[in-house]
Order: sequence, then C-alpha cells, then structure tokens
Amino acid sequence: MADLVAPAQRLAILGGFADALADPCLLLDRRSVVLHLNAATAREFPAVAVGSLLALALRNPVLLSAIDAAHRTGEARTIELHQTVPNETWHRAQIAPLAGSGGLVAITLQNLTEHKRVEQLRSDFIANASHELRTPLASLVGFIDTLLGPAAKDEGARERFLTIMRQQAGRMSALIDDLLSLSRIEMRQHLMPTGSVDLTRLLKEVRDGLETQATEAGVRIELAADGPAVVTGDQNELYEVFENLIDNAIKYGGEGGQVELAIGPGRAGYDYMVSVTDHGAGIAADHVPRLTERFYRVDAESSRKKKGTGLGLAIVKHIVNRHRGLLSIRSKPGEGTRVDVLLNR
Ligand code: ATP
Ligand code: MG
Repeated sequence: MADLVAPAQRLAILGGFADALADPCLLLDRRSVVLHLNAATAREFPAVAVGSLLALALRNPVLLSAIDAAHRTGEARTIELHQTVPNETWHRAQIAPLAGSGGLVAITLQNLTEHKRVEQLRSDFIANASHELRTPLASLVGFIDTLLGPAAKDEGARERFLTIMRQQAGRMSALIDDLLSLSRIEMRQHLMPTGSVDLTRLLKEVRDGLETQATEAGVRIELAADGPAVVTGDQNELYEVFENLIDNAIKYGGEGGQVELAIGPGRAGYDYMVSVTDHGAGIAADHVPRLTERFYRVDAESSRKKKGTGLGLAIVKHIVNRHRGLLSIRSKPGEGTRVDVLLNR
C-alpha cells in the first residue's frame, strides 16, 4: 500500500477500518502521536486525543514500553493494561506495527474488566466457602484427637464432645446444602418457572415448619392474608425464599417478640406482594445493599453463633430473580426490618 496510496488516503482507509471495529482501536505514527481513534476509544479512554502523544493520555509504563518495542522491532506485542483511575479497568492491548505503512502502529484494546470481576467473585467465593467448611472441620478434628488421646476413657467428656461434633457436622452439611442449592438455581437462572403456587397456603406451611424455632426464640408469627393468592412459580424454591426470610426475622429480629407476614396486592407492576416484618435491632443502611452477596453478614461472629453462613439472602435473591420478581429490603436500626417479595400471577 505504501507505494500505491498517498499517506492521507492511506490514513483514511486505515481509519475507516478502525471505525468498523466495536472494540477501541487507535493508530499512532512513528513518534507515538495519535493519528486516529474510533468511537469505542473515545468512550473508554476519553483522555486520548488525536494530534497529541499517547503517552500524555495513558501514562502506563507497560503499554508505552510495548509500543516502543513494537516500533523498534516491527513485531506485534500483546500486554494487559490495568488502570486504577478513574475506575479500575483491565484491557488486553494488542500493539501491531502496520507493515509497509511508514511506521504506523495500530493498537486494539479488548475490555476484560467484567471478566476479571467475575474471576474475582469466583475466587472470593471459593475462599469463603473453604473457610466456612474448614472452621467446623478443624473443630471436628480437634475433638476426634481429644477423644482418641487424653479423653479416651472419660465417659462424660465423650458424651459432651460427640454432641458438639454432631452440631459441627450438621453445620457443614447445611452449608453444603446451601451451596448446592445456589448452584442449582444459578444453572436454571434463565428458565422462568412454570408452576402455580398459592402464596397463602405456602406461607402457612412455612410458618408451621418454623413454629418450634419461633416458640423457642419467644417469637409469635402473625399471618395476614385474604384468601388464595396464586402466582407463577416453583413451589420448592418459593418455600426456600420465605423459610429464609422468616428464619432471619426470628434469628436476627426475634427480640421484637413478633414477626408479621402479610400477603396483599403488589406495586410497581407486580400482582402480589409478600412482606416479612420484624421489630428487632434492624440493619444499618450501609449494610443493606450488600446483604444479598454470598457470605455477607453484618456481624460475622454473632451470625455464626446463630448458625448463619450468609448464603440465605443470596439464595433468596437468585430465586426471586429467576421468578422475574423483585426483592426489597428496608430496615431502620432500632425499629426492625421489612423484606418485600413481589411476584406475578
Ligand atoms: P444463612 O441464611 O445462610 O443461614 P445468614 O442468615 O447469616 O445465614 P443471610 O440470610 O444471607 O445469612 O443474611 C445475611 C445477614 O443479614 C445476616 O447474617 C444478618 O447479619 C443480616 N440480617 C438478615 N436478616 C436480618 C433481619 N431480619 N434483621 C437483622 N439483620 C438481618
Ligand atoms: Mg439467613
């Protein structure tokens, strides 16, 4: 192309090609002055300007030295570009000298930020899950060693230790159930459930199932409903939703003495709304948006004592999403918490 096409015309052709790409793409001359940038570059790298040195807009040493190397050797380079301001972003940058162009270099950038975020979530998740399993496991191993060694002949200790071991094993198995349930729901996330569920009957069942736990905690569960309220949904999954919410209301809001369940007309375009209200200590505002993250607990120590692993609301959120419903959590510290679940017929 060098011999047949004038430089201005060459730039127009190359620029047109860059404009056809969905990812950021820019062209530099032999001194690394920006000659052309496409719309995606302007959007993702607003500081980069035509006619000025790229180094003024992107002061990234890894990128700049890769560009230098590409100029010097005439060979393409691929690097990872990690930026922390204004937001944390990752791009894979391909720096390619354009053969026969008189020293022009094309840079294409692929945004990896979302990919990195998912990777980070996955590795946090594995770290958290392993930690939660390791704690009861370590305690089990400790008790086993004591029973094999110092307490081998101590009848009383054996009884006590076995009871604790039973509890710790129970905790591990509950955690594994939660993890499996989360991955099952995730796998079906894009499939809308097709069954019919009467919320009034369902809530009565859940309430009856939690009756013993409520009584032990000194909590009365009041249910307000006018006849059947039938929604499209999966019976078992919706059972899990309300079991988790009412369990939380008893565990964390039980000091209020009463938990109210109400089934009524929806809002915001939904047919029905179920609300679970407690009058406990409530949750400080900065925690509320994070409650549905996996393993998120306001106070990890006291939640763990209450046998909480922080997966309940993550499961609830996933199930409600799969039902194309809406979950809203409102809380006033000192007054209590109200969770609304909105669903459609
Ligand atoms: P799991 O549900 O897996 O047994 P968990 O109850 O700790 O464990 P979530 O149900 O996800 O986990 O709740 C997350 C955290 O939110 C809890 O640890 C608790 O700190 C807080 N929380 C949830 N519901 C309430 C509530 N009604 N009142 C006060 N705090 C609450
Ligand atoms: Mg819970």
